[in-house]
Amino acid sequence: MKLVTFLSDEGKLSPGVLVDGGVIDLSSALPEKPSALRDVLAGDMLGRVAELCQDASAITVTGRVLKSPIPDPANIIAIGLNYRDHAIESGMAIPEEPIVFGKFTSSVCGPEETISLPGASREVDYEAELVVVIGRRASHVPQSEAMEYVAGYTIGNDVSARDWQLRKPGGQWILGKSFATFAPIGPTLVTRDEIPDPHALSIQLKLNGQLMQSSNTSRLIFRIDQLVSYLSQVFPLQPGDLIFTGTPPGVGFARKPAVFLQPGDVCEVEIEGLGILRNTCRRA
Ligand code: ZN
Repeated sequence: MKLVTFLSDEGKLSPGVLVDGGVIDLSSALPEKPSALRDVLAGDMLGRVAELCQDASAITVTGRVLKSPIPDPANIIAIGLNYRDHAIESGMAIPEEPIVFGKFTSSVCGPEETISLPGASREVDYEAELVVVIGRRASHVPQSEAMEYVAGYTIGNDVSARDWQLRKPGGQWILGKSFATFAPIGPTLVTRDEIPDPHALSIQLKLNGQLMQSSNTSRLIFRIDQLVSYLSQVFPLQPGDLIFTGTPPGVGFARKPAVFLQPGDVCEVEIEGLGILRNTCRRA
């Protein structure tokens, strides 16, 4: 299933599911009246959502504007240097344990929304990433069971101000990656059953139509089950939490000459089976 958050005719965000012919508004079709996809996940409603998809009369919306599938995650976790060849292009050692940082949840934006280039940075870069969406509270989960806690996947762009990330005192990874709109995700949350092997997906990023990153999630150093298990020993993952799993080679700052995002630039991240996430850059 392709779960979405869409803008209703009344101008409010509603959880839904994409079907042939439109969207089923889950805030009216489910008796619990969930107001967000996080509630659908936390309430274990996916089985009933699947039943609704078989019922053509449940379609209530035809035209729709898709927004970030999870607009308000409790946590955004991101993994650094998780593709071997990206670690090498960055001049960093290949990690022996996951390198973990966070992005503030206020950095989330949705498909087709604007990436706002802040006045405080002149080195804003793109990072194509597979994003894992947590489906159930996960605390101290063994690796062998970790995938059961994954609701599905979406596409992310881990937008990064390199001057902040790399050259502020102490190295400010969180600040450099948490400017408003620096976490575009979407366009949909594709449920886990639709992606039999998340470690075999082509992933690429085009900047203004030019291919900048092209790889496959088979090259992840730390895989999804390892990451969920690893993180869950530190803090409980919540339904709707996002894990940005890392980016492959080809980012702008590692190029010679370096490439940074400019007003008017269009980033398109495509992952096999998940669609395309497109965002245009504007000066804040
Ligand atoms: Zn990243």
